Amino acid sequence: MPDTGSAAHTRPGEGATPLWLPREIFDSEHDMFRASVKRFVAEEMLPHYAAWEEAGIAPREIWAKAGAAGLLGTSIPADYGGAEAGFVYDSIVIEELANAGIAGPSFDLHSYIVAPFLIKFGTEAQKQRYLPGMADGSIIASVAMTEPDSGSDLQAVRTSAVRSSDGNGDHYVVNGSKIFITNGIVGDLCLLVAKTDPAKGARGVSLLLVDTNSPGYQKSKSLKKIGNKAQDTAVLYFDDMKVPVDNRLGGENEGWRLLMSGLVQERLIVAVRAVSTCEAALEQTIAYTKERKAFGQRVFDFQNTRFTLAELVTEVQIARHFMDRCIRLHAEGACDMRTAAMVKLSTTELQQKVLDACLQLHGGNGYMWEYWIARAWADARVHRIYAGTNEIMKELIGRTL
Ligand SMILES: Cc1cc2nc3c(=O)[nH]c(=O)nc-3n(C[C@H](O)[C@H](O)[C@H](O)COP(=O)(O)OP(=O)(O)OC[C@H]3O[C@@H](n4cnc5c(N)ncnc54)[C@H](O)[C@@H]3O)c2cc1C
Repeated sequence: MPDTGSAAHTRPGEGATPLWLPREIFDSEHDMFRASVKRFVAEEMLPHYAAWEEAGIAPREIWAKAGAAGLLGTSIPADYGGAEAGFVYDSIVIEELANAGIAGPSFDLHSYIVAPFLIKFGTEAQKQRYLPGMADGSIIASVAMTEPDSGSDLQAVRTSAVRSSDGNGDHYVVNGSKIFITNGIVGDLCLLVAKTDPAKGARGVSLLLVDTNSPGYQKSKSLKKIGNKAQDTAVLYFDDMKVPVDNRLGGENEGWRLLMSGLVQERLIVAVRAVSTCEAALEQTIAYTKERKAFGQRVFDFQNTRFTLAELVTEVQIARHFMDRCIRLHAEGACDMRTAAMVKLSTTELQQKVLDACLQLHGGNGYMWEYWIARAWADARVHRIYAGTNEIMKELIGRTL
């Protein structure tokens, strides 16, 4: 596996000349945390990563280790075992995973998508039950929205939750299925989107906290994907599965409002990963083309190579500034839906362009799975699809103009 632990913000092979402008959103405590995450990734993840990709899943132990190292609970309140440190710290974890080319297991979804729903909307009992385990990695979370017939159009979900009462108390009886569910195999807790009032469309949706060992909960084998191979992805089936009413997150039929509140962060997470991946790809490609020879000269010395890299480095530098502005805004609770859609759209489109060009500059080696650039190229493709497709981002931005 190519070395990914090199100084992320220094031009390879050129000593102290910085490739990127200094960033202004971090202080020395952030830098210390980043160093600890970088060390964890290098020692505990990279040596095993190829095996996890091969298996299509990462083992539970890595979750416990990541929890102990403080990677999972950056935003979880201290009362529930987290660091309560906020989105800048979340971003550091995501950036270091992206720099190293680690696309799975999906800490992103567990810590920065599911946990915030519990933090914002959970009852005290729900928080006590799930958040400490999510911070220490003993409870792994997934979120199940997408169905075989509804992805972008979430209002069309058909999984039903019908309220019922018997000797065991008030509960919902859930029937239906979900597809493409990240952490769907390893997950212990599934935040499930279900229709509690089908007549009301989006206004008839509720969120349920489902323990995945509930009778009636079934999962497929991990789906085979073109990238993100160390991340397990499943189809889920619910057959008369009982979920106690106490496990509902928020009010009945309030699910849509809750889901909307998570979209800004979900999109920023993808964008944070995209920009860091672009930076790492360019650093690696500059180094590679300076080593690789063709026609008696370095590949870097062809004008085509330098022009390509010059354009991409410039575009990524611009993207970095927009990204950091968004990280800071969001940490202050001030990033709006349009801005989040803009940063997700622009950075993931740029990522595709950068990775494809960098892969090209690696020649045939770039097509080999053992090369960082090949895996990053494959892993990145989904970023234009999930967290809202880029077409949906354009719709959202367009509507506000
Ligand atoms: C690896 C992976 C992991 C995932 N993890 C999860 C997960 O953990 N939980 C979960 O719930 N889901 C997950 N998803 C699902 C993901 O969120 C959806 O795939 C995504 O929202 C797109 O939905 P869809 O696949 O149904 O595509 P569709 O909605 O069928 O879209 C097909 C095409 O039509 C376009 N389109 C749709 N509507 C419009 C419109 N209004 N205007 C213009 N174009 C439009 C889309 O942009 C797309 O190009 C995952 C998907 C993948 C691939």
